[in-house]
Amino acid sequence: MTDIAANLPLVLQTIRRAAEEVGRKPQSVQLIGVTKYVEAERVRQALDAGLAICGENRLQEAQAKMEAIGVRPGVTWHFIGRLQRRKLKSVVGQFSLIHSMESIEQVEELDRRAQEQSLRQSILLQVNVGNESTKGGFSALELLEAMPAVAKFVHIKVCGLMAIPPWTENPEAMRPHFRKLHALAQEVKTLGLPGIEMTELSMGMSNDYPIAIQEGATMVRVGTALFGSRPQ
Ligand SMILES: *Cc1c(COP(=O)(O)O)cnc(C)c1O
Repeated sequence: MTDIAANLPLVLQTIRRAAEEVGRKPQSVQLIGVTKYVEAERVRQALDAGLAICGENRLQEAQAKMEAIGVRPGVTWHFIGRLQRRKLKSVVGQFSLIHSMESIEQVEELDRRAQEQSLRQSILLQVNVGNESTKGGFSALELLEAMPAVAKFVHIKVCGLMAIPPWTENPEAMRPHFRKLHALAQEVKTLGLPGIEMTELSMGMSNDYPIAIQEGATMVRVGTALFGSRPQ
């Protein structure tokens, strides 16, 4: 059994080192502990050890765990998985950030659902940096074209971009994708659209998060390095 109380300080130290290597403040990087497949009791242990943000990618599993664990001061939940249209209603207001909005249609529907609940939902736009047919997300071009329309929705708050680059074992091979996402966020900023912040870059997982941090990640999504390997 992987010891979360031992792993968490190691991951935090790796984050600190990677940030310092490139002259960034360690506090500019948030750790999202990816708790998918991790049972509530072990999530609780992670929170006791100091984890502050949990990332879940399946709605039902997330809801069950959030209910089991209850509200804990300083702890927030992020949604990082693919969302079917009919599920959008249930994520609104339940997660402090949704990382995985993958199309303008989805953004529009989420805005409508957020309006129904009189709230403003924070989101990231997912970019398909590897142009993979199996993955969702905007292409770089689609994103730039969609931004003016996205900026018109007032019940969502676009905080930045997220990507899951094509998997390769060699973390260095991920670097160009991280650079691309960072550059794209800069390009969106130059559009100067009202309400579009682009302060967050969610990129980097267990295998490559130090590289992602070197390339500007402000949120890293780490599962295996904290909780051990998942059943699959
Ligand atoms: C599972 C998952 C992660 C974590 O992956 P690890 O390699 O276990 O760190 C990160 N992001 C997303 C979107 C995931 O689904």
